Amino acid sequence: MLKNDISIRALAMIGSATAEMNKKAEVYRKAGEKVISLLQGEPDFDSPEVAKEAVYKALENGENHYTPADGLLELKAAIAEKVKRENRIEVDKTNVIVTNGSYQALFLAMMALINPGDEILSTDPGFTPYQNIIRLAGGKPVLVPATVRNKRYTVLKKDWEAAITKKTKALILNNPWNPTGAVLTQKELEEIADLAIKNGLYIIVDEIYEKIIFSGHEHKSIASLAPEVRDITITVNGFSKAYAMTGWRLGYAVAKSELIQFMKKINHCTSRCATVFVQRAGLALLKDKVDYCKEMVNSYEERKDIMIKKLNSFPHVNCLEPEGTFYVFADFSYFGMESHELANLFLDKAKVITSPGSYYGKQGEGFLRFSCATSKELIIKALDRIKTVVSTL
Ligand code: PMP
Repeated sequence: MLKNDISIRALAMIGSATAEMNKKAEVYRKAGEKVISLLQGEPDFDSPEVAKEAVYKALENGENHYTPADGLLELKAAIAEKVKRENRIEVDKTNVIVTNGSYQALFLAMMALINPGDEILSTDPGFTPYQNIIRLAGGKPVLVPATVRNKRYTVLKKDWEAAITKKTKALILNNPWNPTGAVLTQKELEEIADLAIKNGLYIIVDEIYEKIIFSGHEHKSIASLAPEVRDITITVNGFSKAYAMTGWRLGYAVAKSELIQFMKKINHCTSRCATVFVQRAGLALLKDKVDYCKEMVNSYEERKDIMIKKLNSFPHVNCLEPEGTFYVFADFSYFGMESHELANLFLDKAKVITSPGSYYGKQGEGFLRFSCATSKELIIKALDRIKTVVSTL
């Protein structure tokens, strides 16, 4: 008989509320209902031709073998150059590892850094998978509450400070920030960097939405603040959002080379390396230096404006104006329902899938996340249906 077959660390993982919503939606779809999803965490655009052509060419050239576990040398050099040019972080190829998406870069970083019981600070609300990755690596996620100030979520310095203990090893940021849409300001970045340096903490920053920035806002990489900040920061990024390439699984991390060496060692026994012809596609895109994301961002901006205007026209609903990402986080707390209940109600009655704010943490309760990664027409249709349900509350 099998004993204790599932590991404690696997059992400790938080389930996905979005998976639950999708499962329910599938039942409605099978019954012939026209369900609209405003849940998407991925661009609704095609990947660039340049990337596809690079794959065809690589395969024709017989590129079908392993690469080094930290990626093709040329790609690492091109990433280092991009990071220097665009993110203003002084690095070279020894500071880069290529991974199967940014998820894996986060996993390798946590596996390389965390000892059993180490505490890792993460924002509430925040991207829930961070908690699972921290737990899988043997650490303890410590959620630091963010609050809404001047119509945007922020973590106050005193709240970061209050969460730091002797066991704190690192903090993880998402900038721009899913689900809140905030882009961290220079002041916020400086405060966090200062705290990290004073307390001997690493900073892990997930910058996957760096190119999805709305008018009037600017993204800055925390590692660009100063060499001493760069040396304690692991910057995670990838091709998924900037190039509409979620299914290709291509990401990277940039950190001090001693840490990269260990991430490489861990990668050697996990995925072994990112797919060689996908790496070739990444290289072709970086060599091209074309901002493929610009048009997508223009669309997201137009869609989020439509979405915000519509949602704000609902009685007692207030949207936070996103500064980046393709999400709108809207406050439905007036109705006194849990966000999970409300999301289920909208799915049952309006056949629209949204994401409950509580999925991202206690501080997200009362909010719903709406994704702009779908067409204007569907956004309008979905919100009209939701408005009808809201009018009955
Ligand atoms: N970080 C955040 C904040 C995300 O929203 C996502 C995708 N939803 C990821 C990482 C995963 O990105 P990738 O496809 O590069 O693994």
